[in-house]
This record gives sequence, C-alpha cells and structure tokens, in this order.
Amino acid sequence: MNASPGAASPAIAAFPGLVDSHCHLDFPEFDGKMGEMREEMRANGVTHALCISVNFAGFPKVLALAEAYDNFFATVGVHPDHEDRTGVDPARLIELARHPRVVAIGETGLDYYRVSGDLEWQRERFRAHIRAARECRKPLVIHTRQAAEDTLAIMREEGAAEVGGVMHCFTESQAVADAAIALGFYISFSGIVTFKNAGALKDVARLVPLERLLVETDSPYLAPVPHRGKINQPALVRHVAEEVARLRGTPLSELAAATTNNFFRLFKEARR
Ligand SMILES: [Zn+2]
Ligand SMILES: [Zn+2]
Repeated sequence: MNASPGAASPAIAAFPGLVDSHCHLDFPEFDGKMGEMREEMRANGVTHALCISVNFAGFPKVLALAEAYDNFFATVGVHPDHEDRTGVDPARLIELARHPRVVAIGETGLDYYRVSGDLEWQRERFRAHIRAARECRKPLVIHTRQAAEDTLAIMREEGAAEVGGVMHCFTESQAVADAAIALGFYISFSGIVTFKNAGALKDVARLVPLERLLVETDSPYLAPVPHRGKINQPALVRHVAEEVARLRGTPLSELAAATTNNFFRLFKEARR
C-alpha cells in the first residue's frame, strides 16, 4: 500500500487505543498486505477493526478475517449500491449473523447518489435488514447518501431504535445527527471530516455528544488528510480521531478512550 502513516510517537505506549469501526479489508486492495497493514495498526495504536460485509458473495472472506484475527470483527449485509435487485431474505441474514464473530447487521441503508431510477428495491432491502437485526438483536450499520429523510423514516417505521446502531461515514446535517441519536444511534466520522472543504461536517463533529461518537476509515476509500487520494487503511483512523479531537478541543487520549468504549458498548458481542 502507498499510504504511510509515518513513525509512531513515543507517547503511544500510554495511548488508550483506537478502533476503526468500519473498513473493507476483504477488498482486493489488501490482498497479500495483511501483515503490513496490521503492523501499521499496531504502530498507530489502532487496536481493533470492524470488517464490513457488502454482499453475500463477499461475506465468507469478511468472516474469515474475523475468525483469523482476535481483534477483527465481522458484519453481514448487502450494501445499497449492490444492484442485484433480488430481495434479501431476513432469514438468510439471521442465519449468517448467528456466527459469534458477526457483531452487527450491515452495511445497509439508502444511496440515492450512486444509484438512480425507481429505488423501491433499495428501500425494501433496507427494511429487510432492520427486520433481521431486530429478530437477532444485533445493531445496524447504516449507510445513507442523499437519502437522509427516507432513511430516517424507514428507521422509524421499522423500529430500528429497538436495536440501535451506527450512521457510518456521516456527512449529513446536525438535524439528521440529532434525529439518529434520538433513535439510539451513534454517529461515525470518516476521513471526510479532515477534508478542507468539509466545514459544515466539522461543525457537526464538534456537537455530537461524546458518548455517541465513533471513528472509522471506510478503507480502502476516503483516506484522510494528509494521505488523501491514497489507499486508506485502519491505521489512518488516527488522523480522523486527531481531527475530531482538535475540533472539539479534547485531548486525543480522551477521544480515543470514549470512542473505543462507545464501540464496545454498541457492538456488545465484540470482545476486547
Ligand atoms: Zn457505506
Ligand atoms: Zn463501507
């Protein structure tokens, strides 16, 4: 991988550790790079990562990562951009989610930016994920892009508050954050919050209650400044956390401790 997070600082020994709450380590960008990538995590105090499933075909590889490494966990779900319009049967999600390393359902949600046309199939698929999550009592990992209003409406209609979850790679307004928080959800910031043109999002990152904050990379996408445009990796969640801490005027160690505690509170089946 091209991205080099740089040398670890001496203060790292006392650092409470960070969790990358959302990454796609099964993607081909990481083939043959696992050792190097995990070494960068260690060097940057990134202790755990949640490996996110985007379709059924890729799920075995996601699960294999969580089985191979104690500090990786898995989710099961079909991403809203996955345009195989066949419906998702909640029973299939529930069956796969039974595995002890699967700690959440997702990623799921709505994306009106990447996909267009009649998107009723996308909404139905989202509903199926919420039903499955309620049935197996696991939290949801939700993706929303240019679809916040419908996302929140479906979350309410399907009773997503019963299991909670995370609004991942958050790029919406404070009002959307408040509405999701009211439904018991957490707000996860990605490398986007480090971008110079992300002024409105930086304001949201200042205001989300500390006990509802998470950080993520969405690797291999969205590498944070100063690695923008390169292949992202979990080690770089440190730059996301540093920026959120800076915006809030909070020490990085405090932000790391809070986001890590939040992660293990939300994803109850993930063990430290
Ligand atoms: Zn996503
Ligand atoms: Zn993702």
